[in-house]
Amino acid sequence: MEAKTKDLWVLIETKEDGSAQNVGLELLNPGRMLADKQGGALVAIVIGNNVDESVKAASAYGADKVIVVEGEEYQRYTTDAYATALVTLVEKYGPTSMMIGATPHGRDLGPRVSCRLQTGLTADCTALDIDEESGNVAWTRPAFGGNLMATILCPDHRPQIGTVRPGVFKKADPTEGKAEIIREDIHVPADQIRTKLLESIKEAAGELVDLEGAEIIVSGGRGVGGPEGFAPVKELADALGGVVGTSRAAVDAGWIAHAHQVGQTGKTVGPKLYVACGISGAIQHVAGMSSSDCIVAINKDPDAPIFDIADYGIVGDLFEVLPILTAEVKKL
Ligand code: FAD
Repeated sequence: MEAKTKDLWVLIETKEDGSAQNVGLELLNPGRMLADKQGGALVAIVIGNNVDESVKAASAYGADKVIVVEGEEYQRYTTDAYATALVTLVEKYGPTSMMIGATPHGRDLGPRVSCRLQTGLTADCTALDIDEESGNVAWTRPAFGGNLMATILCPDHRPQIGTVRPGVFKKADPTEGKAEIIREDIHVPADQIRTKLLESIKEAAGELVDLEGAEIIVSGGRGVGGPEGFAPVKELADALGGVVGTSRAAVDAGWIAHAHQVGQTGKTVGPKLYVACGISGAIQHVAGMSSSDCIVAINKDPDAPIFDIADYGIVGDLFEVLPILTAEVKKL
């Protein structure tokens, strides 16, 4: 389809209680930059039930306009109801581009919507910009098994759609918010929703680690040498009030649970402080932590690639360095 406006849309994914998932609010931040470069408005799309809190948040985090679709059929995510609502809105307003969080729901919704609109979708992006020559959104994502970062343009179809990983961008500072609120009355009859929730069974939670929400992460990689090698990593994490992260090499070796893994096939994190201990800095690991505010690397190989992105580097044996750091932190 042809775009009717230069507007950039961000889907604010809502939870069952009507509040917003963080990722939508995060995306308003790069969304502002992209919308300004495109010369259009930054529009937040809120679909759900009793979503006043999400609407307020979208306005506070920078949207120029918020388009709201509310109804009981949107309380819990279903592909049919959400895809119908979003496609109806896109056909009416014709934005030039649209971003969706790469959450389980976003990863389901994005392809469905792009297929119905006969446009492209760049999935799982980790960086965004505008291609100066063509004016298209430049969507960057890991490709070829994560061995390189590909930048993808969608020149011929509108809207350009991308899903973007949670945690890659930080939320802007909130303001009072003065977005124009537009309410759209779109309802999807029950017989057009082909799935329904019969029962919700909570499995006993495995090891829970809030890497994405953590402000401090101390990560150990293959350099820790075995499961017991995580002890000094955890001691520093505890002293700093942070959590333990890891690389895939240590997870694959069975030394620590996958819940701790940072990187392309693990979590994407953006803490204030990321301490990488015995981690070489492979592209797939870096893809998950490079937006950290401050990166400290401890590695005995001075040529380890992790030093290329570190703000502070310590060349040394982690088993000697970590106890010294922990002791110093405890003195504070
Ligand atoms: P290594 O690369 O083996 O590095 C160990 C480092 O420890 C070395 O630099 C060494 O000098 C240092 N060292 C050793 N002993 C000490 C010591 N005593 N003190 C200090 N330093 C020491 N990786 C991820 O991490 N996350 C992902 O999500 C991920 N996804 C992937 C997806 C795909 C499709 C593929 C192909 C790979 C993926 N990988 C991922 C794997 C990635 O390519 C690397 O293999 C992995 O990150 C390496 O982990 P590492 O840095 O711990 O180990």
